[in-house]
Amino acid sequence: MNILVIGSGGREHALVWKIAQSPLVEKLYCAPGNPGTAQLAENVNIAVDDLPALLAFAKGKEIGLTVVGPELPLSLGLVDLFEENGLKVFGARKNAALIEASKAFSKDLMHKYQVPTAAYGVFTEVDKAIAFIDQTGIPIVIKADGLAAGKGVIIAQNREEAVAAVTDMLSGNAFGSAGSRVVVEEFLKGEEASFLAFTDGKNIIPLASAQDHKAVFDGDQGPNTGGMGAYSPAPVVTPAIHEKAMAEVMRRTVDGLAAEGRTYKGVLYAGLMIDGESVKTLEFNARFGDPECQPLLMRMKSDIVPVLLAVADGDLSGVEIEWHDKAAVCVVMAAGGYPGDYKKGDRISGLGEAAQVEDLVVFHAGTKSDQGGILTNGGRVLGVTALGTTVPEAIERAYQGVAKISWPEVHYRKDIGAKAVNR
Ligand code: ATP
Repeated sequence: MNILVIGSGGREHALVWKIAQSPLVEKLYCAPGNPGTAQLAENVNIAVDDLPALLAFAKGKEIGLTVVGPELPLSLGLVDLFEENGLKVFGARKNAALIEASKAFSKDLMHKYQVPTAAYGVFTEVDKAIAFIDQTGIPIVIKADGLAAGKGVIIAQNREEAVAAVTDMLSGNAFGSAGSRVVVEEFLKGEEASFLAFTDGKNIIPLASAQDHKAVFDGDQGPNTGGMGAYSPAPVVTPAIHEKAMAEVMRRTVDGLAAEGRTYKGVLYAGLMIDGESVKTLEFNARFGDPECQPLLMRMKSDIVPVLLAVADGDLSGVEIEWHDKAAVCVVMAAGGYPGDYKKGDRISGLGEAAQVEDLVVFHAGTKSDQGGILTNGGRVLGVTALGTTVPEAIERAYQGVAKISWPEVHYRKDIGAKAVNR
């Protein structure tokens, strides 16, 4: 079968890497892809939001399965368009992907179906938002309603900051139309974990547990990024927490969406805040998390293609997924300055040497090819991902790979996985 993966990040390189191992694949394409996906698939120069061109390509190349990586094409209705044209596609439909595209929708859905989450209010007027802030107290969390690439969340430590954040967002100065509605919510303490599951809208199959590292500097300091590293399994997700997350978060959300006429097919990602026995939902994403996707797919033993096809067909019953006992750790190598301004076009050295490390894959994100070499071309440049018998072993191996790779002003965290080890 011919398969098309849509996207160009580390997540999509990991998907291409995993799908390429399936005996079911005849020809694999990635649109637009990156130099990493180019080693395993044919890159096609079509942007992720060019729906008509993607559809024409899929029809022309007799694509038997399209796998959507990022949220943008989901929220634009790529899955609906492909399905209307009789094409098989893995991803959430537009009306279900709203669970990520609108935080107000997501919070209202959680409230209606008793999915545990922080107390909140949704506001379009500054005065009312401020009244809620005064009533709830500090610290408090202010979120732009729409997609803001992980940057639309402000954790205000004092009243002035909170008032400035709602004022900026609601005036349209920050995040444009994505901020024309704001969610203001109670600050939750605890440890975060990512909980992902495949679902056909009825059956739910959880993936292995994982934890992301959002802050740019060691010790969770500095501004939030798209993610500086991840590991799996995450010991904070004990069997009891896992059961609670499945019953109270995943089951209620999947059933709630179905009851609303928004049947969810694809991979559903819940960002959880875990505090002792308490599990609360911070957010939903309608796709694989990046970087979590990289260690998760390295740990997946089963062929992923039958799972993706079963989701696309809307029937996951009878599907089982096997996982390697090993742990996996992904260290993101980023351009210095990210998530603020950073430089592009630095020549990356050592990729060949890193690839020699056993049980290690260097997933590409923001890279581009140039005269036989590879240059940096984004904030998050590479995801160096390794397997190990234990988390400490996987950490050691991942950093062995990182040590071989360099470019001027490279930045990476030195404490990926430390939380798992400390537990
Ligand atoms: P991303 O796209 O990067 O996953 P996002 O923009 O969708 O993020 P959220 O996941 O809702 O936004 O929030 C980003 C981060 O802010 C969370 O991972 C968490 O660290 C912090 N955060 C969000 N809500 C709360 C809360 N209620 N209490 C404490 N921290 C929070």
